[in-house]
Amino acid sequence: MSRTPDDIDPALALAASGSSLTIDLGAVAENYRRIAKEAGAAQTAACVKADAYGLGMEKVAPVLAEAGCADFFVAEPLEGVRLRALLPQARIYVLDGFFPGAGPLYADHKLVPVLATRAQIEDWLAFTQSAGKLPAGLHLDTGINRLGLEKDEAGWLLANEAARRALEVDLVMSHLACAEEPESEMNKRQLERFAAFRAAFPKARASLCNTAGVFLGPDYHFDLVRPGIGLYGGNPMHEHRESPFKPVVYASGRILQVRHLEAGETVGYGATFTAPGPMRIATIAVGYGDGFFRRVGDQKPQAEVVICGRRVPLAGRVSMDLITADVSALPKDLPKVGDMAEILGARVSIDHLATAAGTIGYEVLTRLGNRYHRTYKPAVSGHPAPHGAAAPAPLAQQSSGDET
Ligand SMILES: *Cc1c(COP(=O)(O)O)cnc(C)c1O
Repeated sequence: MSRTPDDIDPALALAASGSSLTIDLGAVAENYRRIAKEAGAAQTAACVKADAYGLGMEKVAPVLAEAGCADFFVAEPLEGVRLRALLPQARIYVLDGFFPGAGPLYADHKLVPVLATRAQIEDWLAFTQSAGKLPAGLHLDTGINRLGLEKDEAGWLLANEAARRALEVDLVMSHLACAEEPESEMNKRQLERFAAFRAAFPKARASLCNTAGVFLGPDYHFDLVRPGIGLYGGNPMHEHRESPFKPVVYASGRILQVRHLEAGETVGYGATFTAPGPMRIATIAVGYGDGFFRRVGDQKPQAEVVICGRRVPLAGRVSMDLITADVSALPKDLPKVGDMAEILGARVSIDHLATAAGTIGYEVLTRLGNRYHRTYKPAVSGHPAPHGAAAPAPLAQQSSGDET
């Protein structure tokens, strides 16, 4: 959520902001439909944990529901409570499972825990013994070794008739470790383990795929797929393949100053950048306080931003509130103070920034922070626009994919 006080007029708030973030909710809906198409007969859920990957669950979740999504995944129970207030009808799964002591909250808000350990199963059974039978999911670890029933815990459950009868298993799931690497042997191994376990719960829906998993093909789809990153415009295949998704996030920063440097002058903290000749530097009101990675400033080649339609490299370190870009290649009266530099958008993808920062698009999104002036571009509800009739994306024409 933006921290802009509610009593400030929106136009005035925008004029008073150093940076701005536009979130294209229509693109979220379109990306949802793209995945649902790929998933074929399987149902398509949505992961909206971590405030819908930083984009704002309150805005994003209703758009997904409108696009046909009936099943949602959050990480923590309190995220589920927030989601329940938005979507009274949705199925809401809590990936972290069951937190003992929080039982009434699950029951009151119809949150379905995805039980991931033997202890969680036992705590849930103790709770539902008094509260009455309630649906739960089961998370089997098939090789990622992160969260989910271990082999002996799964064996315990399969052998324990009483526990199985007392549970109302509504979903059986597992999570792939290498879904973005279609050639990885790990995928097949996890698929086999999962298929064997799910066979013991024929009435439950089965779910294995995150966004990248959906593109491994129908063997992996089962009954329900649960994408996150693709909905928000990230490329699930990272550098392996071009992104099938529309950008969702458009971030820009105000140019505060344009200065001239002589050869040998330096830029920023630590004087890490030295001008090789006369040059011009634009100072932009975005920094690591806005989730722009500090280490990008020390990286070679430098990350790029788009100013006056051209990709230009950063020069010098990223500071809390400011970045500096080399605009020497622009015509000499450009850019103008007050122009906006494109930080993220159709021409600078979240994956471009992620690669420059040595991370992944997920971290770019979840770190955006709340200093940007946020605008949500509404999804046009109802039926998707006929092909080719979609409204142009904000700030830039579509040229999907990153040109670097
Ligand atoms: C976050 C998460 C997902 C969604 O993954 P994406 O790669 O963002 O599509 C699916 N399943 C589990 C268990 C998750 O934690």
